[in-house]
Amino acid sequence: MKNEFVLQACGIHKSYHKDRIEVPVLRGVDVNITAGKVNALVGRSGSGKSTLMHILATLDTPDTGEVIFQGQRIDNASRARRDAYRNRDIGIIFQFYHLLPELSAIENVLAPMMIGQSLWNYFRNRREARLRAEAMLDRVGLLHRATHRPTEMSGGEMQRAAIARALMTDPKLLLADEPTGNLDTDTGETILSLLDQLSREENLTIVMITHDDAIAKSADVCYRMQDGLLETKKPSRNVA
Ligand code: ADP
Ligand code: MG
Repeated sequence: MKNEFVLQACGIHKSYHKDRIEVPVLRGVDVNITAGKVNALVGRSGSGKSTLMHILATLDTPDTGEVIFQGQRIDNASRARRDAYRNRDIGIIFQFYHLLPELSAIENVLAPMMIGQSLWNYFRNRREARLRAEAMLDRVGLLHRATHRPTEMSGGEMQRAAIARALMTDPKLLLADEPTGNLDTDTGETILSLLDQLSREENLTIVMITHDDAIAKSADVCYRMQDGLLETKKPSRNVA
């Protein structure tokens, strides 16, 4: 199924309120995320990219508008459905990795599995879970750091661990908020090519949020956030 939209948002409005003054951030954003592709959302700092990502991830709610995942509204779904969506249907990675500092790489990768099921199920499945966590660490080239804690890893390694964690539940969609924003250029490029490879080889859909035009250009589809609206830019790479 080529070019189907796995995630859509329409008419998204969101304002923040500061000292009783309304600060509009999103003023009617529409977006269609193409399945199996790298979809960049590019815009300058403060343009509302993270606000939009949080809404797409159901971490925040829009003032008005709808978020639709695989044809079904998710923004106003039950709390249980939204929890399942975040834990199982999507993976999220952030600029600062958000790893738990007391846990090793493999324990961080296992964490969503432990949250997603009862303790009983976890203990019953833990061998399988551990094998999967090892496979995910291997997939991102980090198996040799499985027992290292975040303080014992480089930035690029921490982001690889965060990607492995996001992949643990076999999500359809990965939301990445400035995933290379804290990395030097070379390390950033290896992370971007890993994400690109995952999109191509595992048919994973990626939403790549970035302020960097060069990164956006390497995506399959590109949207630009400006003045609270999102415009489609001409795809820079051939979207067959
Ligand atoms: P980006 O990710 O593109 O840098 P954000 O979505 O983080 O932008 O922020 C968009 C705008 O909304 C900024 O002007 C920011 O200051 C403001 N903003 C973000 N979060 C809040 C909040 N919780 N309260 C008030 N203003 C906020
Ligand atoms: Mg941001």
